[in-house]
Amino acid sequence: MGIPHVLAVPYPAQGHVIPMMELLRCFVKQGFKVTCVNTNFNHECIVKAMNEKDGHVAEAIHMTSIPDGLGPSDDRNDFVKALKAIFDIMPGKLEELIEMINETEDNKITCLLADESMGWAFKVADKFGIKKVAFWPASAALLASMFSVPKLIEDKIINSNDGTVIKHQMISLSENMPAMNTENMAWVCFPDLEIQKSVFDVVLKTNEFVKLADFIICNSAYELEPAAFTSFPKILSIGPLIATNQLGKQIGHFWPEDSTCLTWLDQQPVCSVIYVAFGSFTVFDAVQFEELALGLEQTNKPFLWVVRPDMTDAMSEAYPKGFIDRIGSRGKMVGWAPQEKVLRHPSVACFLSHCGWNSTIEGVSNGMPFLCWPYFADQFLNKSYICDVWKVGVGFDKDDCGIIRQGEIRNKVEHLLCDRQIKERVLDLKGKVVNSVNEQGCSNKNLSTVIDWMK
Ligand code: UDP
Repeated sequence: MGIPHVLAVPYPAQGHVIPMMELLRCFVKQGFKVTCVNTNFNHECIVKAMNEKDGHVAEAIHMTSIPDGLGPSDDRNDFVKALKAIFDIMPGKLEELIEMINETEDNKITCLLADESMGWAFKVADKFGIKKVAFWPASAALLASMFSVPKLIEDKIINSNDGTVIKHQMISLSENMPAMNTENMAWVCFPDLEIQKSVFDVVLKTNEFVKLADFIICNSAYELEPAAFTSFPKILSIGPLIATNQLGKQIGHFWPEDSTCLTWLDQQPVCSVIYVAFGSFTVFDAVQFEELALGLEQTNKPFLWVVRPDMTDAMSEAYPKGFIDRIGSRGKMVGWAPQEKVLRHPSVACFLSHCGWNSTIEGVSNGMPFLCWPYFADQFLNKSYICDVWKVGVGFDKDDCGIIRQGEIRNKVEHLLCDRQIKERVLDLKGKVVNSVNEQGCSNKNLSTVIDWMK
């Protein structure tokens, strides 16, 4: 029997590629041949962002790419356009790639591992009669809400045409799951109706495609969402997939990391630094950006702030007048941080986060209390788990103009850092979550079951 060969298809966004790459490292460790197919655009970013030290990891995973159907200058954050192009173009390109690999390599593809949001890939895999595993890089609760769409339509809670909410209310997806605000359903949390509809259409189609998958594995831990995993037993917890578990660094980043922040962290007192990061998508208007800067200044604490080059317009003029001089070495801004290493650093006291799922589980896995600043999609649902279910963080209140003001930022930072109970709870949760990927842990056992089956 030849070596099993996994072809992985991540969804083309940073928060999907990073955990997929971590998962692929598990397959490499188990002796699989692994090929990862990104979009041409992201493949180029990943290769550019890698430094020489990453070479040995990249060699173990064969990285290849196919077009995403967009032109070089098209806006890949334009969801409507991007999703249409993915569905129209990528299936044909994936089919050609599988044919090419099967013709030219001794180890034919034996299993397709695709992001659940790329569910169309299971239809392609079906033509080749290979095994199919769906990977869900977000919370089980979010996937449960998507699987519940037919019931939500039947109960007249959402509109069958575009997923808009008919009755705004708290709903229970199953008896024991924490109640969910209908406003927090992922497709509802997009600012624009056309995007909402386009995302909702993908949810409907993907719900069908994913029925073809033999397993659905989820980057979460049973201990974080016991009721969701119990109520939706098809979803298997295998997380948190974080580089700390692999004693290595994260791979698959679109931007080069600025590791000078680690040296800066070494110079700060233990448990003193506010780490501020909003993932790969979040953008700010000029007013909000300025309030955030002034709020951080007012805390009088050291802070490490990830300011992506595309985070706000006219970046060079974005900081308030005199801000850079006033904060001096108390504040450090970087374009992209080695986030997991930062969160593990003893100088970091708390995490001001947009509550993307990866950031959420990375923060919990490192015992970080959260200041929650959700922006779109599932981040509002994740915030409600952080603040209301696990009770390991606090959210910010907006003023009448929809802005989070500097005073609010200063007050919430003070509040969070004085709250011993929040810190105790997050340390307790950290213990449980980290255990789940240990040898006897639930996530580890689930992943072993899937890997054995794939072999
Ligand atoms: N990340 C990073 N450096 C940064 C900011 C983010 O390495 O400066 C990583 C972070 O560790 C996480 C991912 O990028 O793994 C972001 O995923 P998340 O789900 O939190 O947010 P998204 O980008 O999808 O909104």
